[in-house]
Amino acid sequence: MDFNLTEQEKMLQKLAGDFAEKEVTPKAADIDRTGEFPSDLAKEMGKRGFRGLPYPTEYGGSGAGYVSFILALEQICRASVSVGAIMAVNTVPEEGIYRFGNEEQKKRLLTPLAQGKWLGGIGFTEPDTGSDPRLVKTTARRSGKGFIINGQKMFMSLAPVLNVVLLFARREGAEGLNAFIVESKEKGFAVQEILETMGLRGLGTSIVNLDDVYVPEENLIGKEGQGFDILLDAISVERMSVAMQGVAAAQAALDLSIDYAKQRQAQGKPIARMQAIQQQLAEMASRIEAARWLVYRTAFIRDQGQSIQYESSMAKLFASQTAVDVTRMAMQIHGAYGTMKSLPVERLYRDAKMTEIYVGISEVHRSIIAGRLLR
Ligand SMILES: Cc1cc2nc3c(=O)[nH]c(=O)nc-3n(C[C@H](O)[C@H](O)[C@H](O)COP(=O)(O)OP(=O)(O)OC[C@H]3O[C@@H](n4cnc5c(N)ncnc54)[C@H](O)[C@@H]3O)c2cc1C
Repeated sequence: MDFNLTEQEKMLQKLAGDFAEKEVTPKAADIDRTGEFPSDLAKEMGKRGFRGLPYPTEYGGSGAGYVSFILALEQICRASVSVGAIMAVNTVPEEGIYRFGNEEQKKRLLTPLAQGKWLGGIGFTEPDTGSDPRLVKTTARRSGKGFIINGQKMFMSLAPVLNVVLLFARREGAEGLNAFIVESKEKGFAVQEILETMGLRGLGTSIVNLDDVYVPEENLIGKEGQGFDILLDAISVERMSVAMQGVAAAQAALDLSIDYAKQRQAQGKPIARMQAIQQQLAEMASRIEAARWLVYRTAFIRDQGQSIQYESSMAKLFASQTAVDVTRMAMQIHGAYGTMKSLPVERLYRDAKMTEIYVGISEVHRSIIAGRLLR
């Protein structure tokens, strides 16, 4: 066991930390207030190579690995969970193509994503479900040398800005789901509405209509009917990333709470000297540390080329609960000031709650974990 970061990892952590502090922090409150997608920051993360860290150089990445990716993500999410989430969502099509695509698809589709020239998203959730693949209604019908897709996708992040989406559709007249890379410029792909969400604002989370959208055969990822396996594998990296979003939100809330507790006075002394406050700070720090190492270990396992379906569920379940508990404690320590829109604590509290819901609700992760335990 070696818990030390390599020199390269430390350097990347510093680069991402500087970017977060200088470029993301000054814009974080505005992104949350306006709900506008931060195109400039998304481009900058692409240029700096943050969106291709895990992938080999021959496919446009830097080959730095998943631990590096998670370290960079942590720094960016401490400044803004929404901005970090752009990196996380983008990994789903990257993973789908990298793990299940053929050589031609990796060159043609993964390269521009990993180089940061394209943005990618995932289209699974529909009006009737975000958890159960049996309820997916979007259909893929064979037509000539390709497929015609019809349906509606809910909560598709990055939808107004993405170039491609890893989209899941039911096979017409056959069992199972297909996974496709759908290009947003195709006729019939239309954003119906950008949704106003409580947290993770500025992520362009939208309702998307698919009306006779043509997808060439060469954009089918994996085999026909393999869609659900592709979803579970590709989304495990996003789940690990959401766990890190939770850790980062919690850490930011703890940092703010320590500063506040040192300067806020009650009964003639800083509240940091009160045992009740100290107990909470200790609890917050311990839970964050445990969650962080669960995520680092999950990234380490992925770097060994192994599946992280079980580990990413555990990390997401624990880290998102930690985020919700820690940000609630931070709100409490800040008293009435914590509720003010002018301070970041209430934004962290809202963003933390989102991590328990998106990319698989906590109940689904408990089912996945229990399923493995009882197998
Ligand atoms: C900001 C945001 C961004 C998102 N981005 C995307 C995106 O880019 N692409 C995409 O496809 N989706 C996206 N989603 C959708 C998100 O992943 C789903 O909303 C989420 O997985 C939960 O699905 P649901 O809302 O359909 O809940 P449901 O599955 O309807 O669950 C509702 C309730 O039923 C219970 N339940 C459901 N299934 C089980 C089970 N198996 N065991 C026990 N209890 C269960 C749960 O307790 C839950 O409380 C996004 C959502 C948000 C909020």
